[in-house]
Amino acid sequence: MPRLAFGADYNPEQWEAATWKDDVRLMREAGVNLVSLGVFAWSWIEPRPDAFDFSGLDEIVALLHESGIGIDLATPTTAPPLWFSHAHPGSLPVTADGLRRAPGSRQAYCPSSPAYRERAALITRRLAERYGEHPAVVMWHINNEYANGNPHCWCENSAAAFRTWLRTRYGEDLEALNERWGTRVWGMRYSDWEQVIPPRTSTSRLSPGLWLDFYRFSDAEHLACFRAERDIVRTLSPGRPVTTNFMAGALRWSDYWRWADEVDIVSNDHYLASEDPERAADLAFAADLTRGLAGGKPWLLMEHSTSAVQWQPRNIAKTPGEMARNTLTHIARGADGALFFQWRQSAYGPEKWHSAMVPHGGEDTRIWQETKALGKAVAGLADVAGSTCPPAEIALLLDYEAMWALELTDRPSADLTYRDALRTWHQALWNVGLPCDLVRAPVPGEQRLLLVPSLYAVSTDTARALQDYVARGGHLVVGPFSGVVDSDDRLHPGPYPGALRGLLGVRVDEYLPLAAAETVTLDDGSTGRIWSERVVPDPGTEVEARFADGPAAGGPAVVRRGNVRYLATRPDADALQRLLPAWAAQAGCTPPLDGAGHGVEVTRRTAPDGRSWLFAVNHTRHAAPMAAVGVVPAGEVAVIRESRAPATQPHTPRTQPES
Ligand SMILES: [Zn+2]
Repeated sequence: MPRLAFGADYNPEQWEAATWKDDVRLMREAGVNLVSLGVFAWSWIEPRPDAFDFSGLDEIVALLHESGIGIDLATPTTAPPLWFSHAHPGSLPVTADGLRRAPGSRQAYCPSSPAYRERAALITRRLAERYGEHPAVVMWHINNEYANGNPHCWCENSAAAFRTWLRTRYGEDLEALNERWGTRVWGMRYSDWEQVIPPRTSTSRLSPGLWLDFYRFSDAEHLACFRAERDIVRTLSPGRPVTTNFMAGALRWSDYWRWADEVDIVSNDHYLASEDPERAADLAFAADLTRGLAGGKPWLLMEHSTSAVQWQPRNIAKTPGEMARNTLTHIARGADGALFFQWRQSAYGPEKWHSAMVPHGGEDTRIWQETKALGKAVAGLADVAGSTCPPAEIALLLDYEAMWALELTDRPSADLTYRDALRTWHQALWNVGLPCDLVRAPVPGEQRLLLVPSLYAVSTDTARALQDYVARGGHLVVGPFSGVVDSDDRLHPGPYPGALRGLLGVRVDEYLPLAAAETVTLDDGSTGRIWSERVVPDPGTEVEARFADGPAAGGPAVVRRGNVRYLATRPDADALQRLLPAWAAQAGCTPPLDGAGHGVEVTRRTAPDGRSWLFAVNHTRHAAPMAAVGVVPAGEVAVIRESRAPATQPHTPRTQPES
């Protein structure tokens, strides 16, 4: 693996062979040391069934090898050829309304299709046999952005696979399924396994238990496709790490905690919402999440853009310097490299307005000049590779199944989403410069403060894990509408908040969601949005703030029992920026690094041998004072190689910069 990786998706099949030599010359000029090759190349290397033609790929692999550029070789299974889709129309995904998707774009396959799995395995085997031992192939890239265009499929293949999956899950006990899905409601009891179908569009609502199992099943099917290809590659290309590019920031249909356990290297794609004035915070969220998923293992930013993308309504170009800040934010937060989509900007097709390392205008462009400068900067940081960010003292709990459950229909408020809470809380911490990790249950021991956004669905295991964390002395903050149902969306027994009642030391009498745009005022001056609750504290539970108005006026809004706080509303961004630092201080967290916050990121990476680096990324339009460097100019990034690691307090710089 290159140290640090720098490069792009390379799609030579879009270009005449005459361009390839120029590509490699420019890659060397830009400091490219790794390319993801062949992501969409299936019909290029297998233009007709079983008629494999590796001549183009052979030539490219040789060219890259001669130039010392590492190859992250992709299995092209995200884009089955048209000859396959037309020969096997049953392999195309079907919507909940029964509409079969037409061939003609990428990800036009059902992950449960036996025909698809068979051909995907075959092309993977042929690639791994041919290039598995090639010295230029340094890692493998399986498929591309699983579940992006085809997260769920309602076809007959999927229905059969779903039933098989359920029979295993419920141990052939159909009554257990009936019980978990609550089919006594509306008389929807199953009397035969064959009556079980995916949640296709019906006359009215379907069982939430059915939906949640369908989400789990769908994720498992994509993961099974990944595992099958990975295992072929591992056998034929031993010793090379295997990855697939996540879309972690999207927080949708892949439970990436499960996926992270299956890859050798976690890698992520990240694209900014180009019109979002606070988009810099999104970089930090994606990087923190990917680092959390990697769990101490190396990870890569597999794709980002040099400038605009093409799939948003208005695709705003990155400002000068923004690309470098984006890349270096990820490296500052632990990435061992950063790649772009894509190397050369397409001349045709849907992505021709997506920026690239080599723009349409070629070398005489701002983007190319900045790309070369960035390549030099990344090469200068090569010795950072392998170091990691120290564990943060604050963590956010990410539970994908709780997110799926909360965001189903038929909830008290569609506005109370898991993703909104996670992003708002992370952004508040980012704004005040407090480092944060994303974790899953059971929570690792080292955090001082654990933040749990609305954990509507909570298993007894997770509830116990939170109790254990508090019993070890950890501080906990739990958002509203938590602890209510189990993993199958069945109410926990007893009053709300069910599984967390003892831990939180309250009884919730009634959930009182707010109207759109309605806010509530708390008597500490905070503003709450979206939600309120009528909370009755247990004896010994302290009320820290009360609702001054709104449907729960006069009642508790923030309560505390020992190290545990419960919020009966969603504090707005201003309130969070005031409350979170205060709670962090009470939990004994180290203050932010000097200069960090309000658009200036300051992070540290440390190596096992004691070396450390301080990164300061100034996303603002004004110079940022920092004791360690004097000043970080507007829009610039400073990296300080520290002479030795701080010995005792990981978040306080104690050493003088060496350079
Ligand atoms: Zn299907």
